[in-house]
Amino acid sequence: MLGGKLMPPIARRRLRIALSVVAVLGLVTAVFFAVSARARFIVGGAMVNLGYRMQDPISDYDFVHHHDLTPDQIWNELVSQNHLAAAVRKKFPRTSRHPVVAMVVCMDARVDTSELTGDTRKYYYVVRTAGSVLADQEEEMLELAVANGVKVIVLTRHTDCAAEKVAADPVARKQYPNLSAAVDEREKRIAELLARPAIAAKIKSGELLVKRMNIDTMTEELLPLPAAPAASTAPATSTAVAPKDSSTVVPAVAPAH
Ligand SMILES: [Zn+2]
Repeated sequence: MLGGKLMPPIARRRLRIALSVVAVLGLVTAVFFAVSARARFIVGGAMVNLGYRMQDPISDYDFVHHHDLTPDQIWNELVSQNHLAAAVRKKFPRTSRHPVVAMVVCMDARVDTSELTGDTRKYYYVVRTAGSVLADQEEEMLELAVANGVKVIVLTRHTDCAAEKVAADPVARKQYPNLSAAVDEREKRIAELLARPAIAAKIKSGELLVKRMNIDTMTEELLPLPAAPAASTAPATSTAVAPKDSSTVVPAVAPAH
């Protein structure tokens, strides 16, 4: 009967309320830490989305000069933002993880690879190129990533791709001949990757899965690849295998390297 007679009724009521609040908070905390990792993953993702909702409507890049920015002003703001972000990261370091997935994605800014899975953890290598086209160095880098433990490679395209549009437009092709040529050889490059002995062996043994998907640029949903290759006015010089019904791809020819 602590303070039963010493405390006035209103104080006892406040004490009971305070103790109840503490008990509820304790219960909520206990439940939070007891729930599955998946629940924490989803709650974390929801909080990230809350941040997106707060930042997305802010259209002024540097909050001062509105839309009439010079390159120097943009750079200064970028550095300022980096200093703030780096200071936060120093205080709250992230966990290092070894990627198990490598994704090849076009450089289009509308696609945010963290949003593809709602996963901000560092389980992903991301190769971003114009039109999602691999060059020699990317093929080798993917092979290195697989050697280091990557088990899934996701080769993507995306809707409304500017590089594909250029390659499909006879006038634009003249202005951007190298980009057009790169898009033309995308399938050939993928065939090269799949034919690399180290990659082919891992696929054959079931240690590596290679998927081909189409990203919906507005929703970032992974969709099946269109049945037909990207429209192009260029002559078909590719020796690559055309996309199959299934998104899973396998080496179709003898190793070329
Ligand atoms: Zn693109």
